[in-house]
Amino acid sequence: MRIIFLGAPGAGKGTQSELISAQYGIPAISTGAIIREAIATGTDMGLEAKAYTEKGMLVPDEVVIGIIKERLVKDDCKKGFILDGFPRTVAQAEALDEMGVDIDLVISIEVKDEDIVKRMSGRRVCGSCGSSYHIVYKPSRSGEQCDKCGSDLSIRADDKPEVVLDRLRVYHEMTEPLKDYYKSKGKCVEVEGQEILDDTSALVREQIALAFGK
Ligand code: ADP
Ligand code: ZN
Repeated sequence: MRIIFLGAPGAGKGTQSELISAQYGIPAISTGAIIREAIATGTDMGLEAKAYTEKGMLVPDEVVIGIIKERLVKDDCKKGFILDGFPRTVAQAEALDEMGVDIDLVISIEVKDEDIVKRMSGRRVCGSCGSSYHIVYKPSRSGEQCDKCGSDLSIRADDKPEVVLDRLRVYHEMTEPLKDYYKSKGKCVEVEGQEILDDTSALVREQIALAFGK
């Protein structure tokens, strides 16, 4: 089972990836999370990536393709995996093809731009372990601290309204064309992002059941 989640920033692909990951016991791989961790620990890759993510720009293709190459050879990917936030450009999708990675299903979560801007203002992240929350859609139990590790939650630097608009522009220009890229291969389905997270999950599961019969 090799699945890609596409969608604008804040459409909910991270949350859906984690749910499917837990259900099927395959890893959810988020290039964004890997990059944030590298920035937090100050690796060379993190230092290079920081300037781009801060501005809402994409990190160069060769950097993220390198990240994915290293990650997909790990043992836990043998049974399958979910890609959350990769590929984000046609060049990245072509790199996956060249690596011989056969994708089964691409699920694009559709959310209108004005709803994205509203949603992003409620997004919170744990500074220690990177878990994501939303004050309305996915609140932590205490409201202020991470359920997993107890650290304080904060707003991600690139979730500020000015940066969100840039990320949306980048999404439409660079990433949205991937829908056609995968549609032409008969692999892309669209799911309407719902107000309630569980409702979106139900639609996602329906598509997975259709594609895999389970
Ligand atoms: P979101 O889906 O909410 O936009 P991510 O956590 O997936 O956020 O990504 C955060 C940032 O990390 C992106 O804005 C971009 O700068 C960088 N990034 C993540 N994945 C990629 C990728 N595949 N290609 C280029 N940049 C990426
Ligand atoms: Zn945490």
